[in-house]
Amino acid sequence: MIKVGITGGIGSGKSTVCKIFEVLGVPVYYADERAKEILQTDAEIIKRVKDLFGEDVYDSNHVLDRKRVAFVVFHEPEFLAQYNKIIHPAVLLDSEKWMQRHLQYPYVIKEAALLFESGGNKQLDKVICVTAPEDLRIQRVMQRDNTTEEQVRSRMANQMSEEEKLEKSDFILYNDGSAPLIRQVLNIHEKLLEIIRKQDQLEKR
Ligand code: ADP
Repeated sequence: MIKVGITGGIGSGKSTVCKIFEVLGVPVYYADERAKEILQTDAEIIKRVKDLFGEDVYDSNHVLDRKRVAFVVFHEPEFLAQYNKIIHPAVLLDSEKWMQRHLQYPYVIKEAALLFESGGNKQLDKVICVTAPEDLRIQRVMQRDNTTEEQVRSRMANQMSEEEKLEKSDFILYNDGSAPLIRQVLNIHEKLLEIIRKQDQLEKR
């Protein structure tokens, strides 16, 4: 089994691309969703988040006050670093366990916006970057999240530049309407299966 990462800036179309891979029968691990789940269920993580932000960062129903966390980490880089030190290793461990449960598949996908920033790429064999022009990404997110251009731009500010991500990736998917997304996904799917076939042949020798 090989481990493939999918990353890209906010609104690039990562989730959309992953849905196509899911249709092809490829299991996908969604890092952001899992992180949210871990923050609500893992007692050790909850304790560390409370130690960092204060006991009342979880309300009386044990729900994390995400807005407050976002506000603090946005304004205090030191808090962002500490928060990342809690959440990134936890997601890394969780995704590793998830991958071990999917060894019967030729390959699996981990989708993460902050794949390189979190060091998550180190556990992966190949990385796909989804890319689209900034203006288009902003428009798509404004529509998807019913939000303002300013808010989308501030979320983008915390992410590694698109250029750097592209440079570090093995495959690039252009989600700018220039070529059908489905065809591009099928192309990468075939290439990955080919890599796996070659690996199997080498192992059998
Ligand atoms: P990401 O996961 O990278 O933030 P999404 O996959 O959620 O991005 O895409 C952002 C928004 O743009 C979604 O509402 C999605 O439906 C829409 N979208 C993505 N790709 C396309 C496309 N090729 N054409 C039209 N809309 C798209």
